[in-house]
Amino acid sequence: MIIPELNDGALLPLAESFYTIQGEGYNTGKAAFFIRLGGCDVGCSWCDAKETWNPALYPPTPIEKIVEEAVKYKAKSIVITGGEPLTYPLDKLCKLLKKESMQIFLETSGSYPISGIFDWICLSPKKKRPPVGNIHLIASELKVIIEKEEDLLWAEENRLKAAESTLFYLQPEWSRRGVMIPLIVEYIKNNPQWSISLQTHKYMNIP
Ligand code: SF4
Repeated sequence: MIIPELNDGALLPLAESFYTIQGEGYNTGKAAFFIRLGGCDVGCSWCDAKETWNPALYPPTPIEKIVEEAVKYKAKSIVITGGEPLTYPLDKLCKLLKKESMQIFLETSGSYPISGIFDWICLSPKKKRPPVGNIHLIASELKVIIEKEEDLLWAEENRLKAAESTLFYLQPEWSRRGVMIPLIVEYIKNNPQWSISLQTHKYMNIP
């Protein structure tokens, strides 16, 4: 879902940006500025950012403007998320953020080739559009959403492709958390290479 004028990454469809606390995965609890880009063609039924799927709804925003806002806050951590941020080449945005000495964290399904430079990559693979290239090998953490028991097989399939240093998280799909948390807890007790990730921002009612 590429919009021609966005192809070189100097403009990006900015859905929203906000300063908050990372709610999920290894960096849970840490303050960061979130840059949410519009556009995703993966189509997860339980997606909690469906409003971002159509990039045409969001203004192609100069990356200088995005960075100008990002550097205003005390935490020097940036989370680039979506939508699927790798829909666009992120090299230019990352280069500008690095000039400002920001730490850059990526949240991606890996369904498009990697671009940009990151201090942390969270790969959350989706069956509908599996990751491409070697992103498993460079992922800092693998975070698999568990909606039903069979998703544990998908999680293991992806774990086997990851590097030894990768951290592994199982995260209950929010609307199914009542059923999935007990299942994940039992699973992790028997497979301690995994940890549980909860969407703590939703418990805290923060973005
Ligand atoms: S990959 Fe992420 S943004 Fe895209 S549909 Fe799935 S959950 Fe939503």
